[in-house]
Amino acid sequence: MECDVAIIGAGPVGLTLANLLGRRGHSVLVLEKQPAPYPAPRAIHFDGEVMRVFQATGLAGEILEHTRVGRGMLFKDAEGNTLVDWSRDPAPGAMGWHESYRFFQPGLESALNAGLSRFSNVNIQRGKEVTDLRRAGDDVTLTFGEQSCHARFAVGCDGAQSFVRNAIGATFDDLGFHERWLVADLRLTADRPDLGDHTVQYCDPQIPATYGRGVGDWRRWEVRLSPDAPDELDDAIIWDHLARWISPQEAVLERGAVYTFRSRIADYWRSGRIFIAGDAAHQMPPFMGQGMCAGIRDAANLAWKISAVLSGADEELLASYGSERRENVRAFIEKSVALGRLINKTKPGAIPTGRMRSIWPDLGPGLGARDGIGGALAPQVSGADGLADDLAHGGFYVLGDGPNGVAPDPTANQWLKSRGVNGAVIRPDGYALGGISNSAERRILLKQAGNILPTLFHSNE
Ligand SMILES: Cc1cc2nc3c(=O)[nH]c(=O)nc-3n(C[C@H](O)[C@H](O)[C@H](O)COP(=O)(O)OP(=O)(O)OC[C@H]3O[C@@H](n4cnc5c(N)ncnc54)[C@H](O)[C@@H]3O)c2cc1C
Repeated sequence: MECDVAIIGAGPVGLTLANLLGRRGHSVLVLEKQPAPYPAPRAIHFDGEVMRVFQATGLAGEILEHTRVGRGMLFKDAEGNTLVDWSRDPAPGAMGWHESYRFFQPGLESALNAGLSRFSNVNIQRGKEVTDLRRAGDDVTLTFGEQSCHARFAVGCDGAQSFVRNAIGATFDDLGFHERWLVADLRLTADRPDLGDHTVQYCDPQIPATYGRGVGDWRRWEVRLSPDAPDELDDAIIWDHLARWISPQEAVLERGAVYTFRSRIADYWRSGRIFIAGDAAHQMPPFMGQGMCAGIRDAANLAWKISAVLSGADEELLASYGSERRENVRAFIEKSVALGRLINKTKPGAIPTGRMRSIWPDLGPGLGARDGIGGALAPQVSGADGLADDLAHGGFYVLGDGPNGVAPDPTANQWLKSRGVNGAVIRPDGYALGGISNSAERRILLKQAGNILPTLFHSNE
C-alpha cells in the first residue's frame, strides 16, 4: 500500500488534516485504532480562527449544524458577583466568523468523517492500530496488524498517549499544572434558563468549578477534586458534587469522568518526514477551551506546507512547522494555566476585576521576517463575492495595497494600520507572510510566496 500522507489517529485533528490534504488532491491514508468514533463530548468550545480552518475544509455548513454561537465567559466569586467579564460580541468578528462557538464533539467528528467521502484519494480505516513506524530512506513505513504502508509523510494525530511521539523520541516539557477535576456531562430534562448561556468560572475557595453551556440540552460542570481523588466516582458522589447547581430531577447524568489536567508541550514535533500534531504534541487545562483549537491550528499550518512540498517546494519549508506552532501554542497554554490559577485563588479580594479580551498570539520564528506583522493572524475580509480565503482557493493572497489586493474592510484596515503597513501577503493558513509598505517589499514577498506554492498562488500580478 502506498500514499502521500499517512495520518495516525482519527480524532478532530487527524480528521481535519485529512480533509485539508484530501481537498488539495493528495492521497491520504487515515488509520484509527478504535472501531468507532468516541461517542461523548470532550471539547465543547472552539473559536473563530478554528471555524476559519473548517471553512478551508469546505465543511463550514455541515459543521455549523452542530454548534451554537458562544456568549463568552464570566468569573464569579462565591457570592455570585461577576469579577471578570470575558463576553464575546454577538456579531461575527475579524475571522469572518463568530469569535466563539459551543459545539457537540461527536457531531463535529461525524461531519469531518462524512466529509472524507468527497475524496476518492482519501482512505480511512478504523480498527487499525499502528504498531510500528520507521524511516525508509526519505519516506516512512508504517505497520498496522498484518498490513503495512509506504508513505511520503506520516503525521501522528494520535492523542495524549501518542505512539508516534514516542517513536520519534520526543518528550514533554512540563509547564507545571497538574490538577484532578471531575468533568460531568448532563442533559437537561427540565427548563433551567437561569443557568445562562455564558460559561461561568466559580472562583470559590471551597470548591473551584466551571459551568459550560453545551448545544441543545447538553450542560457541563467541571469541579476541582483533591489530588488523591480516585479515578472513578460513582453517580451518587457525582450528584453530590453538582448539588449546588442541579438535581437528578432536572437532568440525566450522561458521563462523569475524572481527569488530571496537565500543561505540557513536546520538545520537538518532527523527525524527518514524521510529524506530530494536536494532543500528541501539546496539552493544556481546558479553562480557555483551547486544547483542540491548538491542534486544529497545527493541522492548518502543516497541511499547506506538506502539500507545497508534495507539489515541488523546497522541503526546508517543513522546518517552520514546529518552530511556528510551538510558540503560538505555548501562549495559549500559559494563559490557560493563568486562568486555572485565577479560579483557584482562595483569598477573598485576591482576584482582579474587569474585562478580559481574547488573545491571538503570533507564530514563532519561521517563514518571513518577524517584524511586527510577519507571523501575525490576519483578519478575513468578507466581501460581496464571499470570504477572502475562499476566493484565494487555498493559496497566498494580497490584502490591501492597491487594486490587485483584496480590498480591506474597516477591521482589516485598522489591523494593517496598527501594524504600520499598507498591505500584507496572507498565507493559506490566514497568517501574514509579511507586510507591504512599498513596491520593492511587495515584489520580494510575492516572489517568496510564488516560490513556495507556485501552483496555488492567486494574484493578478
Ligand atoms: C474535559 C475536557 C474538556 C475539553 N474542552 C475543550 C474545549 O472546550 N475546547 C478545546 O479546544 N479543547 C478542549 N479539550 C481538549 C480536546 O478534547 C483535545 O485537545 C482534542 O480532543 C485532541 O484531539 P486530537 O485529535 O489531537 O486527539 P484525540 O481526540 O485524542 O484523538 C487521537 C486518536 O488517535 C487514536 N490513536 C491513538 N493511538 C493510535 C495508534 N497507535 N494507531 C491508530 N490510532 C491511534 C485514538 O484512538 C484517537 O481516536 C478538552 C479536553 C478535556 C479532557
